[in-house]
Amino acid sequence: MINYKDLGLVNTREMFKRAVDGGYAIPAFNFNTMEQMQAIVQAAVETKSPVIMQVSKGARKYANPTILRFMAEGAVAYAKELGCEHPEIVLHLDHGDSFETCKDCIDMGFSSVMFDGSALPYEENIKISRQVVEYAHKFDVTVECELGVLAGVEDEVAAEVSHYTKPEEVIDFATRTGCDSLAISIGTSHGAYKFKPEQCTRDPKTGKLVPPPLAFDVLHQIEKKLPGFPIVLHGSSSVPQDEVDTINAYGGKLPDAIGIPEEQLREAAKSAVCKINIDSDSRLAMTAAIRKHFVEFPSHFDPRQYLTPARDNMKKMYIHKIVNVLGSDGKLAQC
Ligand SMILES: [Zn+2]
Repeated sequence: MINYKDLGLVNTREMFKRAVDGGYAIPAFNFNTMEQMQAIVQAAVETKSPVIMQVSKGARKYANPTILRFMAEGAVAYAKELGCEHPEIVLHLDHGDSFETCKDCIDMGFSSVMFDGSALPYEENIKISRQVVEYAHKFDVTVECELGVLAGVEDEVAAEVSHYTKPEEVIDFATRTGCDSLAISIGTSHGAYKFKPEQCTRDPKTGKLVPPPLAFDVLHQIEKKLPGFPIVLHGSSSVPQDEVDTINAYGGKLPDAIGIPEEQLREAAKSAVCKINIDSDSRLAMTAAIRKHFVEFPSHFDPRQYLTPARDNMKKMYIHKIVNVLGSDGKLAQC
């Protein structure tokens, strides 16, 4: 049993409270590789932002759970080495699918876990969520639960259509589970293809597809039911058009990739939404830089040659999100 506090990690409780009160959101970036981890830490240190580094089931399978945990421990040491004396780094399990997976992560030093029972019947979701919360709270680990179903594909979490969270259920759910934060469904979606072109309208000026707006009315009803309670948005990549264009210009094929417009995320961050999950944008930033590099330097074969611009491009994206979208820059309790 390893407690996250011994690794220098923090849970989400304090940072969420400050984020809800301060009208901004904490970035939750997924990571699978060393380059992503380095870029996340560099961006968080340079902007003096708290940050959530999250690990999905797919990341655990790809990188190995133990390696990811040691990388998070390394992230704390790296942040200090970069000059941040009191970094606030959360190691979070994204979409835990069972009590056992959540327990496994808590036991190996995660400071926060998500149990995603959104596909289960309501009472079953409450039962397992409660079980995870009871175990996690013994070690002061915070727990995110989910109500409502997001469309899209993230690792093995896939759903055809979304079901908005029902505001009339949130008080009962939050009270009976004891969860620390609640992931809701208001129209965000996993992956780089969040909407089909037929769900979108076309901007007459630019000819670009405009996705349907998020259901802010549902969000505001939830906020009224649970004043000040931390709300989480999954599937909140914006799928930047310039990265998609770069990928397509250098041999890729991502037609009609569509994300959530940043102005909508900016608006959400001002509400009780205090954690915004971003994964696809990092994948796109990495792939765009690598594709471009391969075309421009066909003789290169040292991974450091193409992973350096990939890392720089991800870092630029992370800083942009922190400063221009979520507003978490300069929000460390102590620098
Ligand atoms: Zn998710």
